[in-house]
Amino acid sequence: MFQGATPRRHLSFDIPSRPSDTRAMIELEQAGQRIFAALAPLPPEPIPLDAAVGRVASEPILAPIDLPSFDNSAVDGYAVSTTDLRAARLEAPVKLELLGRVAAGQVFTGKVQPGTCVRLFTGSALPPGADAVVMQEDAQLGATEPPQVSFAEPVKPWENTRLRGEDVKRGAELLPAGGRLTAMGVGLLSAVGLQALQVARQPRIGLLATGNELVEPGQPLPAGKIYESNRSVLAALLTAAGALPRAYPAVPDTLAATAAVLEEALAECDGLLTTGGVSVGELDFVKNAFEQIGGEIQFWTVAMKPGKPFVFGRWKQKFLFGLPGNPVSAVVAFLLLVRPALLRWQGATRVELPAHPGQLAESLVNRGDRRHFMRVTVDDSGNVRSAGMQASHSLGSLAAANGLVDVPPLTTWPAGTVVRVMRLDF
Ligand code: AMP
Ligand code: MG
Repeated sequence: MFQGATPRRHLSFDIPSRPSDTRAMIELEQAGQRIFAALAPLPPEPIPLDAAVGRVASEPILAPIDLPSFDNSAVDGYAVSTTDLRAARLEAPVKLELLGRVAAGQVFTGKVQPGTCVRLFTGSALPPGADAVVMQEDAQLGATEPPQVSFAEPVKPWENTRLRGEDVKRGAELLPAGGRLTAMGVGLLSAVGLQALQVARQPRIGLLATGNELVEPGQPLPAGKIYESNRSVLAALLTAAGALPRAYPAVPDTLAATAAVLEEALAECDGLLTTGGVSVGELDFVKNAFEQIGGEIQFWTVAMKPGKPFVFGRWKQKFLFGLPGNPVSAVVAFLLLVRPALLRWQGATRVELPAHPGQLAESLVNRGDRRHFMRVTVDDSGNVRSAGMQASHSLGSLAAANGLVDVPPLTTWPAGTVVRVMRLDF
């Protein structure tokens, strides 16, 4: 087992967390479990295959036919019976009478009788009586009438053929319930003739950025203000997680404005993703506003860095995922808590970021008392380096990173340590 995967119990400030205690800082895994437990699966809906990439199958998809559905040729050549060519030699070629030609898409009405062959192309159905195909490069078509084809060597049974069901057997499971459809999966389902499937409905997620300092990109930037950047990255990540983002205008830092937009967005969406306003400052209104409109905070603060002031709340059957405002904190908390939740909500079985082992090419140091999800780059040989500045506002190193490494509190991992790299370029 590599170090990054080692289960750890490391909190020096371990707080006994009762489920009702919304103030206790909880472990990331516990936070994930609490969110999963709150989500009822979204109902299924039919979807055309050409719109289904990224959607989660609600029921297993079984192959309605064999693939290939008939024995056919893997090459351009001649369908033969292997017994006819048993004695074929360079010095003594065997000549077979050419009975006809089957283009791909056609079927041959006759049969390959002893002493005969049939011209085939890649994908042509194998005629009855044939048990192999000789490539046209290994055969010589004579100029005689009726035409004859010479073969200078024997051929093995079923050489250059593709047999019915050898790729996929009828009834085989092509995608399990909870599987996410990939581009390749779409190709497979098309190949067995499916044009629609049952998938979970997509969660519609309202996207709200709070902060008096926020200015829309494209506008002039007054002194002291910053461009709003969280909604764009989160909208893209939401879409990649199969959700339907719905962005709302930036929310000023007042209790009334925050409560009003939370209420409006809750009415229109299945869940809300907010950024900013979940810390301890007197201008942080998200939690108060959510409670004011009748929401219940399930927990607040997770023992991770970045992303600690994450809040999860519930309003009837709808949910609040409150992310910190710092762009890196928002993205990391999204990837570790919200993305898995969105996928699980859709019934997906695999919800974690893709990950693999890598080897540190330089040390990684976490001097803090919380797990630090450090931004790294990993090259094609698996060498892992820090992606640069690890501060929570540093978007440059976030964009440069292609991985995250979970470094335990108060830990130095020297160069050479094998770590688990969670991929950001999924
Ligand atoms: P907050 O969590 O509201 O205290 O914000 C923490 C930091 O993140 C502050 O420096 C904010 O200016 C910054 N920030 C908050 N929201 C955004 C946003 N939508 N886009 C970019 N930076 C933000
Ligand atoms: Mg703020």
